[in-house]
Amino acid sequence: MNTQLSSVIITVLYMVASVLFIRGIKLLGKADTARKGNLLSSVGMMIAVVTVLAEKEVVGSFTANPFTNGYVYVIAAVAIGAIIGAVWSQKVEMTGMPQLVALFNGFGGLSSLLVALTQYLNDTHDTTTKVDPFTGVTLGLTIAIGAIAFTGSVVAWGKLSGKMFKKSVAIPAKNYINAILAIAGLVGIGLYAFSGADTQLALTGIVLVTVTYLILGLTMVVTIGGGDMPVIISLLNAFSGLAAAFAGLAIANSVLVVSGCLVGTSGLILTLIMCKAMNRTLYSLLFGSFGAKSSKKGDGSGKEPKSMSVEDAYLILEAASSVVFIPGYGMAVAQAQHAVKELADKLEENGAEVNFAIHPVAGRMPGHMNVLLAEANVPYEQLKTADEMNPQMSNTDVAIVIGANDVVNPSAVDDETSPLYGMPIINAFEARTVFVLKRGKGTGFSGIENPLFTNDNTVMIYGDAKQTVSSLVSEFDEG
Ligand code: NDP
Repeated sequence: MNTQLSSVIITVLYMVASVLFIRGIKLLGKADTARKGNLLSSVGMMIAVVTVLAEKEVVGSFTANPFTNGYVYVIAAVAIGAIIGAVWSQKVEMTGMPQLVALFNGFGGLSSLLVALTQYLNDTHDTTTKVDPFTGVTLGLTIAIGAIAFTGSVVAWGKLSGKMFKKSVAIPAKNYINAILAIAGLVGIGLYAFSGADTQLALTGIVLVTVTYLILGLTMVVTIGGGDMPVIISLLNAFSGLAAAFAGLAIANSVLVVSGCLVGTSGLILTLIMCKAMNRTLYSLLFGSFGAKSSKKGDGSGKEPKSMSVEDAYLILEAASSVVFIPGYGMAVAQAQHAVKELADKLEENGAEVNFAIHPVAGRMPGHMNVLLAEANVPYEQLKTADEMNPQMSNTDVAIVIGANDVVNPSAVDDETSPLYGMPIINAFEARTVFVLKRGKGTGFSGIENPLFTNDNTVMIYGDAKQTVSSLVSEFDEG
């Protein structure tokens, strides 16, 4: 085919892919169009991948020998990735989604890092053309941001899955160490981009930026915990997008720039929204240290939580005229949402006003509780935010905390020494009576004790949330 015509076709296909990405993201914004959005974006990605493969210079000319034919390697890689992805997505539990998303971000960052390193190796082979400073800087930034996204996401995966860095880690002089690493990496980018014909200097620069920013991802995320985790995951997602956008600039691929910018900017917007919801600034997130502050253990009074049987709890609920459910991660673990809906129906039939107070980071991913409760057909109007529910909490007869812990921890309001201090919570402690449904004395994701459990108006109902709620429903049936 004539080269001019083929380059026009390739440009048009890249534009089609970009439009599908943009439309797909728009549709992802609403629950009822999200599946269609996902499908459109996937089709866009397939068109982009096939178009890249069609550009001969990307994978080399087609040859009859399968060992030297680049297409064979690419198709094998796509097949292996597709099989792993399909099996993994079938197996993953809803509660395991955040760590999977963290790994996806990490792999995105690693891909951009590898693209940049491959481009560097190509450039060193090609001695006829010298890398211009702009391409050198974009390639260096791709390595830097991709490296942070990779190691940072692996640490986030370890924390979320409980496989690594479960306890919060404090690094002495963390900000100084991070500043030294960041500056050393930038020097590396400068060495590479402005090294002229000195290949030894260029190699030193590439190694310096790669190593320093891989370490920076680790030191930056390892100290973060509790309510800051969802925000940092969103920031890492933005980083993986930005790395892809810079990779697109470095290898002059427009569709990579467009898709990278979409992920990068939407990730940054989500990060800022979450910072606002969590009463944090991006500065305090990156330069603060979650585990560094000392926190009082419990309420310091040495009191033990009181517990109650399901039968006695039923008597209090039967007399209640207003009830607020406060779901958390434990409801997702127990898959108690359908039983909770049944109990809500029984309470309403009994004349009580029922609401659900949803914290923005309850569970393990944004919107986790909304998705579960929507699945159980809880009416949307009953789902209230902390801002809507907190002013009414002191007039509420019973607050039922279902497997939530950090999001109802009053230390966030009244204990300045607590790492949670300043995080908005659902003010369950203000209700006349608080039932806490959990299995035992386990702490929440942050690992911080919760003084709510020893308050005079709080009673614990120990056991798996689904079993406890189902037993309460049975009490209503029998009563
Ligand atoms: P928490 O993680 O604070 O607490 C969950 C509680 O559920 C535990 O204390 C546990 O206690 C209890 N539990 C576990 N399994 C069951 C079960 N089967 N039945 C009854 N109870 C159970 O959850 P929250 O929702 O309150 O807070 C979310 C935390 O996760 C926050 O710190 C947030 O920052 C973090 N996070 C949130 C993300 C998001 O995007 N939403 C992402 C990453 C982190 P016990 O073991 O005693 O039963």
